[in-house]
Order: sequence, then structure tokens, then C-alpha cells
Amino acid sequence: MLKLNKEICIGCGICEEQCAFAAIEMVDGLPVIGESCTLCGACVDACDSGALVMEISGDNLKTDLSSWSGVWVYCEFRKSALAAVSLELLGIGRKLADKRGVKLAAVLIGDGIQKTAAELIGYGADTVYAVEHPQLGNFAEDSYAAIVTRLISEHRPEIVLAGATAIGRSFIPGVATTLNAGLTADCTSLEIRDEDGALLQTRPAFGGNIMATIECPRSRPQMATVRPKVMKANEYDPARQGDIVTVTTQPEELQSRIKVVESVVASQGNVNIQESDILISGGRGLDSEKGFELIRKLAETLGADVSASRAVVDAGWIPYPHQVGQTGKTVAPKLYVACGISGAVQHVAGMQSAEAIVAINRDKNAPIFDIADFGIVGDLNEIIPKLITRIEEQRK
Ligand code: FAD
Repeated sequence: MLKLNKEICIGCGICEEQCAFAAIEMVDGLPVIGESCTLCGACVDACDSGALVMEISGDNLKTDLSSWSGVWVYCEFRKSALAAVSLELLGIGRKLADKRGVKLAAVLIGDGIQKTAAELIGYGADTVYAVEHPQLGNFAEDSYAAIVTRLISEHRPEIVLAGATAIGRSFIPGVATTLNAGLTADCTSLEIRDEDGALLQTRPAFGGNIMATIECPRSRPQMATVRPKVMKANEYDPARQGDIVTVTTQPEELQSRIKVVESVVASQGNVNIQESDILISGGRGLDSEKGFELIRKLAETLGADVSASRAVVDAGWIPYPHQVGQTGKTVAPKLYVACGISGAVQHVAGMQSAEAIVAINRDKNAPIFDIADFGIVGDLNEIIPKLITRIEEQRK
């Protein structure tokens, strides 16, 4: 709780100037703290006389925490399209909201977002906060952060989720810092604890060797980012009902320090393996860069894309956008064929959600066989050509 010691306050008004949420108003020479205070502590830091003090006690925390309610998902919209991770977040967001008995809201920022806003309701949102402006067509970290921070301060959701994408990673930590909230990045599982409703945020730690479950008992909102392809989206339900709330931007929120000079679409070589239905993945067992010729041939035969382990990316056999795993991409194709990949925990972290996993490895004890649905023990240089011939024959 924020407390004012009137005896030593000199009425300088610096706290009012410092408050990013307009929660402090000087009345008769003294600061009055309003409802929109997020307890961020900026005024306490700025108060030279020491008149403003943040008091943290168990009781105060209880009262404050209970005033935050609802689950929010930041839905990423770029170049007239919604990022697939947003629907996945609405899927897990719906489950968390139902468990808490609260509403699920989506925040959508951009230009030309109305149609998408309505679709978000079909994917599970009860409310969509639609922030539309021509100046918001291009992502600008500072503007987006200011808008999301303001909305969270005004509506006080207990949980805020965002995608661990380039965009989510660039501005969500700033939002969390301004709100004085915790943020757990790259979560692989989110659950509600029955006893107190806390959000349990699980993510790999120590190089993927342990799974750490993190909670934020003392502050709200509880914020987490989730990698694409980790959670499942709900089926679209056109009959779902919800509200679209049009949010008006404030002039200062549009005053971005970022100027977009040019926007370039990634070249075809940079295939987005997260969107692929079938992936043929090569590892160090390929022996050299040339080994990828075989992998590409199998991929062509199956209409698949090519991915890889970190070992071969580090060796320069294939570029980084193809890397699967903890420090690469998380993928969830219908079929993942691991060729000459041992199945290290950091690799598995990025592909274990595949619907069917086929492993080809000459070592029958390779850990990849522990998670494979179908295992072929043998030399990939013999097995892959046979597979290609068999598939082509079947096609005929
Ligand atoms: P290896 O482990 O060397 O396995 C090669 C396999 O090929 C062996 O099982 C072998 O039996 C088999 N083989 C050899 N020849 C043949 C043949 N002719 N036919 C059939 N099989 C054959 N790794 C990732 O992949 N992605 C990540 O994102 C990632 N992030 C990491 C982050 C950290 C912090 C750390 C410490 C490591 C990370 N790693 C990551 C590296 C990871 O630990 C492994 O080193 C890496 O996955 C091994 O790649 P690999 O399976 O291709 O090679």
C-alpha cells in the first residue's frame, strides 16, 4: 500500500509529474492517490523528502490482489493477419479463465482489425479490446507498450499472456517492468493452483535440464509469454457471443520514437518451419552438409519442409531459421522425421508436441527412440533412399 506522511510532505508535486498512470493529483498542496495507482513505486523513488512510502504487509497484499480479475491475451496482428500463437493463447487462456471463473479478454492493436476482432470471440474471447489507428499499422514497441500498460492499469486483469515471438519478446518485458509485475518468459505449461488461484508458470531452466515452476505471489498481473506451437487453439465457434470494446488511443501513445523505413518479407529460403505440417529433420548423423541432399529429396517426396538440430546449424550445414529446439523453434507438425538426431533434451523440447514422430538412427539406444512413435534402427544412407522409393511406388 502507498502511504503519505503528511508531516514531511513539502507539496512539491514531483510525484504527480512522475506518475505514468495519472493516479496522483495534488489537492490543497498534498498528493491524493487515486484508483488507477498500480503500486509501481515511481513516485516513491522520486520523492526526495521521503514522504511517500510503500508499505508491504500480508493483509495489504491480499486486498490488492483480489482487486485484479480476468485473463487477458495480447493478440498479435501484423500485415493484416493474426499470428497463429494468438489463437493458441486464447485456447489456454479460455481454460485458465474457466478454472478461475472469470472472463477472457483479448487485446488487439493495429489497423484494419475489425474483422479479426470479431473472429477472436469465436476462438474463445469474451471481450476484445480493439485499438485501431492508421499509425498502429506497423509495430512500434513504445506505442504498443504504452497502450497495453494503460489498458492493464485501467482494467486490472489478474493474468496477462503474450506470444514469445519477436514482437512479444520485444515489448512485453517493458510492460511488465512499468507495472512492477513479474514476467515468466517462454512457458511450456500454465496451470491454476486450486487452493489460491495462483498461476503456475512452467518453463525449462538450466539448459533444459529441469522444468521450473514459477509463481508471482505478491504482485499482479501475473504475466507470461508462451512459445508458438506449445498450446492448442480452440475450434472456431461462430455461435460464440462476446463484446468488442473500441479503445480510443491517446495522442501521446501515438508519438513513437520508432520510424519504419522499410518492411521486407523474409526470403523463401527462410521457411517458417513452425507452419509446416511435415518436417524432415537432419542431425549430425548426416555426416556433412552434403547429407542434406538426401533429406531434401525425402522432403520433396513427402511435400515436407526441412529442419535440423543445433549441432548441424552450428556446423554451418543449414541456416539457423531451420533449427528446432530450445534455442531454435518450437514446432508441432503432423509428422516429424528425425534423421541422425540423438534426441538431446534441448532438441526434444522443440518437437515433442509433433503428432507423430519417426526416428531413424543407427544407435538403438539413442534417446530419440524414447519419444518416437516409430523407430527405424539403421544407417540413414540406406534407409532414406529405400523410403523414397517405397513412397514413390505407393504414389504410382
Ligand atoms: P548428436 O547428438 O551428435 O547425434 C547424432 C546422432 O546421429 C547419434 O544419435 C548417432 O547415433 C546418429 N547417427 C550417426 N550416424 C548415423 C547414420 N549414418 N545413420 C543414422 N544415424 C546416425 N540442440 C538442438 O537440436 N536444438 C536446440 O535448440 C538446442 N539448444 C541448446 C541449448 C543449450 C543451452 C545447450 C547446452 C545445448 C543445446 N542444443 C540444442 C544441443 C543439444 O544438447 C545437442 O548437442 C544437439 O541436439 C545434438 O545434435 P544431434 O542430435 O544432431 O547430434
